[in-house]
Amino acid sequence: MNLILLGAPGAGKGTQAELLTKQLSIPAISTGNMLREAMANGSDLGQKVKKFMDEGSLVPDDVILDIVAERVAQADCTDGYILDGMPRTLPQAEALDSRNIKIDHVISIEVDDALIENRMTGRRVCSKCGASYHVIANPPKAEGICDQCQSSLMIRKDDTPDTVRHRLQVYHQQTEVLKDYYAKCGKLRIIDGNQSIEDANRKILEAIGAKV
Ligand code: AMP
Repeated sequence: MNLILLGAPGAGKGTQAELLTKQLSIPAISTGNMLREAMANGSDLGQKVKKFMDEGSLVPDDVILDIVAERVAQADCTDGYILDGMPRTLPQAEALDSRNIKIDHVISIEVDDALIENRMTGRRVCSKCGASYHVIANPPKAEGICDQCQSSLMIRKDDTPDTVRHRLQVYHQQTEVLKDYYAKCGKLRIIDGNQSIEDANRKILEAIGAKV
């Protein structure tokens, strides 16, 4: 099963991707995590995308398409995968189609803009594996430490209020249009992301007809 998680920054895509990857036994592919890792390694890719990521703008489509095409061709993706944060533009969605990358369900997690900024100030991410936490809604077992790999948690550089506002704008201007694109082909499943992580997760599993 190939899934896309769509939604504004802070809607809970990363958190749901982590749950779904365990429940469905398919990998989660987060373009944001891949790019942050490239920046941390100081690779050519990391240097190329730093400016865009820091200001909360989108990285050029061709860069994203190259890293996603390479990742989905890997052996662990044969039974399916979860795209978290990709596609984010119409050309990215069209490129998936033209490369015959079949998508079964597109899950749009919807959260009121007013709630997003609040959520972002409490977000913490693992500096190594990218796992996502929230100091109140989804705290790690030990403060500041990742449950999964025991590395230290950090605040993302693009989670500052100004950058979050810009990222929300980018979402509404460039990504939200994908809801229509996928509604037209009957693949769009809308999930209320204002509810608890567990409830949203249950609704997602129901929407894609998964029995776990
Ligand atoms: P995320 O972790 O999904 O919030 O992504 C963080 C940042 O990575 C975004 O603000 C963009 O700069 C970049 N990025 C991640 N995925 C994409 C994508 N599909 N297209 C363009 N830029 C992306």
